[in-house]
Amino acid sequence: MKNPQFEYHRPASLDDAVNLLAELDDDAKILAGGQSLLPVMALRLGTPPHIIDIGGLDELASVDAGTDGVTIGATVRHRQAETSDEIARHAPLVAAALPHVGHRAIRTRGTVVGSIAHADPAAEMPAVCLASGASMVARSVDGEREIAAADFFEGYLTTALADNEILTHVRFPGWSPTAGAAVVEISRRHGDYALAGVACTIDVQDGAIATAALSFLGISGTPVRVAEAERSLAGKSPDEAAFSAAADIVTSSVDPGSDVHATANYRRHIAGVLTRRGLAEATATIGVPA
Ligand SMILES: Cc1cc2nc3c(=O)[nH]c(=O)nc-3n(C[C@H](O)[C@H](O)[C@H](O)COP(=O)(O)OP(=O)(O)OC[C@H]3O[C@@H](n4cnc5c(N)ncnc54)[C@H](O)[C@@H]3O)c2cc1C
Repeated sequence: MKNPQFEYHRPASLDDAVNLLAELDDDAKILAGGQSLLPVMALRLGTPPHIIDIGGLDELASVDAGTDGVTIGATVRHRQAETSDEIARHAPLVAAALPHVGHRAIRTRGTVVGSIAHADPAAEMPAVCLASGASMVARSVDGEREIAAADFFEGYLTTALADNEILTHVRFPGWSPTAGAAVVEISRRHGDYALAGVACTIDVQDGAIATAALSFLGISGTPVRVAEAERSLAGKSPDEAAFSAAADIVTSSVDPGSDVHATANYRRHIAGVLTRRGLAEATATIGVPA
């Protein structure tokens, strides 16, 4: 299907991009990797008259990683992040999620930050942001602000980003050396969006679980953490009994919807199964060098 007509802009700097966005107001959309925006336009689900391509902005092209955390710029592609040793070492949950994002061709064009801005509830990166306590850095003509993941995802394809803001970076906090990470999901075919999935972390100190995060994708309009299940794990030994108890809490507390791909009951069931699986996989990665 052909795209609708639009005016294409390729600003030379972030300042130019921000000014242009302010000038064009809600007539413009940011283009990053185009892997979601262009299908949306081709299907006429959105027909922005102006496209602002940020792909040439070198100032947003870096990954800064260290023990303090990892910052990923808005033009960093999924594939660049997936092959980054620094991200594998300092943001293992991000690294665990990336192979699940579509197919390699999509990851070669699509960006990590674009996925967060798009906020598809079945996408991996929003769930990873919520599990990690990441924050998003947004720029507009009014300046810069940082938005916590817990406040960022507001609903289906809806975020706290204002029309005049560009997401410039995502920041993940420092990683604990005693923590493990896993992203597990069920999709109908490899590379499809997941029917349901979970991004999970577990931090084990002196043989007991210190903290755990369970952030689900595909079961609601936004990624969802199940705090009661996370709390149930604290102080327990990281074993099948603790994981099953957490899974039971998840199954009884999530409230997914039905669609043509899966019923609510099926999604509720697999949310529990994935909880057990994810926690076991995350535990197995603790102390394993990236
Ligand atoms: C067949 C197919 C399968 C896919 N499967 C998966 C999957 O399993 N999991 C998954 O997570 N994703 C999947 N995707 C989506 C893919 O990950 C996209 O790359 C991603 O969702 C959007 O990133 P992008 O850089 O391509 O953004 P774009 O398509 O360029 O933009 C998407 C939206 O975000 C906005 N935007 C982008 N960047 C910014 C920014 N910096 N500031 C403000 N707004 C911005 C755009 O205006 C647009 O509204 C799939 C895509 C396809 C085509």
